[in-house]
Amino acid sequence: PEAFLSVRDLRVRFSTEDGIVNAVSGLSFDVERGKTLGIVGESGSGKSVTNLAVLGLHNPKSSAVEGEIILDGQELVSASEKEMEKIRGNKAAMIFQDPLTALSPYYTVGRQIAEPFMKHTGASKKEAKARAIEMLDKVGIPQPATRFNDYPHQFSGGMRQRAMIAMALICDPDLLIADEPTTALDVTVQAQILDLLKDLQQEFGSAIIFITHDLGVIANMADDLLVMYGGRAVERGSVREVLQTPKHPYTWGLLSSMPRLGGDLDEPLVPIPGSPPSLLNPPPGCAFHPRCAFTDEVDGGLCSSEKPQLATGRAAACHLSAEQKQTIFIDQIKPR
Ligand code: SF4
Ligand code: MG
Repeated sequence: PEAFLSVRDLRVRFSTEDGIVNAVSGLSFDVERGKTLGIVGESGSGKSVTNLAVLGLHNPKSSAVEGEIILDGQELVSASEKEMEKIRGNKAAMIFQDPLTALSPYYTVGRQIAEPFMKHTGASKKEAKARAIEMLDKVGIPQPATRFNDYPHQFSGGMRQRAMIAMALICDPDLLIADEPTTALDVTVQAQILDLLKDLQQEFGSAIIFITHDLGVIANMADDLLVMYGGRAVERGSVREVLQTPKHPYTWGLLSSMPRLGGDLDEPLVPIPGSPPSLLNPPPGCAFHPRCAFTDEVDGGLCSSEKPQLATGRAAACHLSAEQKQTIFIDQIKPR
């Protein structure tokens, strides 16, 4: 099936006082209609920047975007701001981590949900209000017709998150980008919001990009998975493949630092030692090599001299051989 969103060799650079930051360095991925692509990585891995670029929300003055972003047949890298405005909120919408960045304190929640509907469909105020109340109801806000008139501060954190989902979905977007949408919420509310997103995806058939640093959330939300490190994709596959037989040492690290379902709660989690690479002055070779425990397994010092490439399909960008990727995981990582 033709991908609804197709990103090819995406590069995003920022100029800063200290120099050029390569936030995304040659990223390619596809998302199909009705499917969810999970993108995981630490902060600074390029996952949020990528998605801001997809929606044209990066700052055009301080950043440069190159490569191809094709949404439903339309090329977006060269699209004008006017064309992007037509796409945002209509064909593609974003749910942010903090609803307060998306909701203004000065207008009622209802008005803010209704507005994109009026803007993109030409609906009357009355029609848009009816539709907004319907959306508030769908996302589980009780007494939606009354709560329509509330201001954001009158909503709880979980309700604001629901309202933002209503706002994002009111125009029935084909692509929904959710950037850490539940990180700020407590675990119970988080689970409710994730269930809600899954139900709404079934109903609306949207493609979803789900950005998170939490592999546990991804296991339950995504069909496919892209693991990002230092502005590049280091592993790609179906969620099942990547979580059951991960092939990249960075993914092994992420999995080891994740609480195991049904595991002993006292079992210590093993965080990945070291810190993410500088994007201003990235390490040569594999960007993960200063933190990797397996560089000695690779001959010729390749890890610190040659950048491993990510093949298409199920793949990991790492110099270890296919056999090593399998046996090291089974012998050393899995039994923990
Ligand atoms: Fe580790 Fe080398 Fe593989 Fe990079 S290429 S992840 S440094 S083994
Ligand atoms: Mg982020």
